[in-house]
Amino acid sequence: MSSILEPAFAPHSFQPTPGAVPVTVAPGDGIGPEITEAVLRILQAAGAAIAPEFVAVGEQVYRAGNTSGIPAEAWASIDRTGVLLKGPITTPQGGGYKSLNVTMRKTLGLYANVRPCRSWKPVVSSRHPDMDVVIIRENEEDLYAGIEHRQTEDVAQCLKLITRKGSERIIRYAFEYARTQGRQRVTCMVKDNIMKITDGLFHQVFEAVAAEYPEIETNVQIIDFGMANFVHRPESYDVIVLPNLYGDILSDVAAQMTGSVGMGGSINIGNGGALFEAIHGSAPDLPRNVANPSGLLLAAVEMLRHIGQHPVAARVMNAWLVTLEDGIHTADIASSQTVKRVGTYEFSEAVIERLGRVPESFTAAEASAPTEPMKLPHLNETSPEPANKVLVGVDVFVDWRQGTPDQLAAALQAAAPVNGPKLVMITNRGVKVWPQGNPKTLCTDHWRCRFQSETVSHAEIVALLGAVASAGLDFIKTEHLYTFDGQAGFSLGQGQ
Ligand code: NAD
Repeated sequence: MSSILEPAFAPHSFQPTPGAVPVTVAPGDGIGPEITEAVLRILQAAGAAIAPEFVAVGEQVYRAGNTSGIPAEAWASIDRTGVLLKGPITTPQGGGYKSLNVTMRKTLGLYANVRPCRSWKPVVSSRHPDMDVVIIRENEEDLYAGIEHRQTEDVAQCLKLITRKGSERIIRYAFEYARTQGRQRVTCMVKDNIMKITDGLFHQVFEAVAAEYPEIETNVQIIDFGMANFVHRPESYDVIVLPNLYGDILSDVAAQMTGSVGMGGSINIGNGGALFEAIHGSAPDLPRNVANPSGLLLAAVEMLRHIGQHPVAARVMNAWLVTLEDGIHTADIASSQTVKRVGTYEFSEAVIERLGRVPESFTAAEASAPTEPMKLPHLNETSPEPANKVLVGVDVFVDWRQGTPDQLAAALQAAAPVNGPKLVMITNRGVKVWPQGNPKTLCTDHWRCRFQSETVSHAEIVALLGAVASAGLDFIKTEHLYTFDGQAGFSLGQGQ
């Protein structure tokens, strides 16, 4: 790999010390290689005991025909080291390319995305100077499970999966993070006034795990109010834990609110390893030697802590804070506080010159490891006794555009076996349209037809589906209806 910056620092010239910890380094695309060089220069000068294994991921790999953007050599290196420091990558426009980040998270089981978002007053101007929050986002489940279907001419669906184990893992991670990092409060944001079963499960697991951490303050907010309140008063939040989609949105909003996208680092962590990166992308609009390397540097500081090199992490962090205090700033954060506006390379030089100093206005980073290091949490500690699960019916989804809900009900009732479950309801887009629907309800070609009785056997469901098919009705999917200890494990139609 050739060097971009002058005087040259080529990543392959990094000189590992004996016994150094192997880490995989993917410089990425756009500004990725130059900020990676800048960061590695600082780590080398600070005495980081790492042995980088450089791998290519991203645009050039995509363009060479690998649709995941990650070649086998990169996977092999990550398998060996379990740690990846990654520059941003450019996802080529057009179809056929998979998101590299999603592939990495899923393949390596990196279930937690941890994003510290704080303002750097007075260096970076922000409307929220006292913001210091850590957003912990579940990374694998929810609408990101990637289970999507087009089922009729008019209707496509995406399955939202929330699991007890997945929720417990991320929520427990959030509490352990708060405990070991000396954070006071964990807030959970969900929408369980609407998604009572899925978000309701996340909420329920949150309450169960929270009970094990009485020293930590907790609260649960509905996501719309919570996000609005967060934008208004971010300083009143400490750690926030969220399911995947809400977390994706809030973490980007929060990063923007800190004042500069160039100052944020992010950690993706799980049983299969840990990925450290800046929150920003490859910034193809930036000329050479302009980008702020701080986001990747802060990610690298977290990487050093992850591999147990706390004193070096503190040395780097403190030198970086002194650089900011001294008014040595890249263009994206230049303000009236700036004494010298510098490029990527000069910024890394300035940090190196300040190694060994401690900041005066910012709080200095601690060189010692936490007394109790953060461990990935164990599971199953809140799993209740298995409930008594009883099959009480089936929702048969039908693709149909021949008439009114009453006509569909009549056709289904005529087809259904006399001794099986009975048609009790039809909904369209979740709104009850039979019995006693409202003719004003907009109906598509996607009908949920609910058959129920006190108990139902699988054989009765098979017989029902056979009869529905014989009547010429196109059933496109089914969902079984179960009660758990007598409680419905399915939503009731709106209008009921
Ligand atoms: P971006 O984050 O690259 O850029 C957004 C804006 O922020 C631009 O004006 C850019 O100049 C500025 N910026 C970003 N990083 C900066 C830095 N370090 N210093 C100073 N200014 C900085 O977002 P985008 O333009 O939407 O995306 C560009 C490419 O990056 C796309 O291909 C996108 O898919 C990819 N991307 C990758 C990642 C990742 O690898 N984790 C994340 C986001 C976007």
